[in-house]
Amino acid sequence: MERPDLDFANLPFAYHKTDANIRYWYRDGKWSDGELTSDESLNLHMAAVCLHYGQEIFEGLKVFGRPDGRIQTFRLEENARRLQRSARKLLMEPVPEEIFRAAVHRVVQANRRFVPPYGSGASLYVRPLQIGVSPEVGVKPSRDYLLLVFVTPVGPYYKAGFTPVRLIVEEEIDRAAPGGVGDIKCGGNYAAGMRATMGAKAKGYSEVLYLDCREKKYLDESGSSNFFAIRGRTFMTPASPSVLPSITNLSVRRIAEDMGLAIEQRPISVDEIPTFDEAGCLGTAAVITPVEAITYRGVDHVYAKGGVAGPLTTELYRRLTAIQVGEAPDPFGWTEIIEEM
Ligand SMILES: *Cc1c(COP(=O)(O)O)cnc(C)c1O
Repeated sequence: MERPDLDFANLPFAYHKTDANIRYWYRDGKWSDGELTSDESLNLHMAAVCLHYGQEIFEGLKVFGRPDGRIQTFRLEENARRLQRSARKLLMEPVPEEIFRAAVHRVVQANRRFVPPYGSGASLYVRPLQIGVSPEVGVKPSRDYLLLVFVTPVGPYYKAGFTPVRLIVEEEIDRAAPGGVGDIKCGGNYAAGMRATMGAKAKGYSEVLYLDCREKKYLDESGSSNFFAIRGRTFMTPASPSVLPSITNLSVRRIAEDMGLAIEQRPISVDEIPTFDEAGCLGTAAVITPVEAITYRGVDHVYAKGGVAGPLTTELYRRLTAIQVGEAPDPFGWTEIIEEM
């Protein structure tokens, strides 16, 4: 296997060209067999529904290099199911779980040389996306669909890795509404949030922390990751109809339970911000990113003093990543080996 000329230990979270992507077309009521291609472009009809009316959903999962040299996915089934939930909500054709699994396995096998080795701290990010491709001018669901999966080797999402980031509570802009589509992974939610994120970055923050848009009283999530806080030995994460159900969050709650922490998934008021001992962001890309401080109405509330993550956040990170890379046993059946071709 000829490794690409990449500095795996210092990768950015960015697109890097690999050898192949895979495409499955849904036409005339059935899915195609899936074809690997090295073409990075798509030939789409200019009236494709995805381009005008936003029938676009995606996923994000990672493949890790294990200490024994094999490679593994993390919670692939959960991603397959979430893509189906997203599809149903936007009236798109759900991708069968077997097709999703085959697509991921095949595209990763075809790009085996790009999977960062164990110990590099990097991983292979897998990005499935599904779009409505039928030409329409009237507003209605597409008849035909494309499932495309590409991969790219990545380092940490936030430049600093497991180093605390700063968040600012966003009081003006909303990402998603309770009756809307905040709970599914569609590109439109990201377009809606860019103004807020770029505004926060311009002020020196990594991301915003959104509030519920009805009362502006409860914490929702960050731009692209869930939020959690720890108070005493209680792990808290917002329950909200406009938050994306994060698979990292689901996993971390399970690990927190094993650590003997109490778990609370409930509306968390902004008034509780000063009472947190630790806080963090959760996502496939963000993994667990400790929050150094939250700024609310001009006041900084600091959780990671001196830029050092708290002990429980650190332990959660250690346990999660040990399972992901195959350093620790996986008692939950979350990982799946990708066999060599
Ligand atoms: C993808 C995503 C997350 C994180 O979900 P994971 O399954 O943990 O990767 C959180 N919030 C939003 C808005 C997302 O799109």
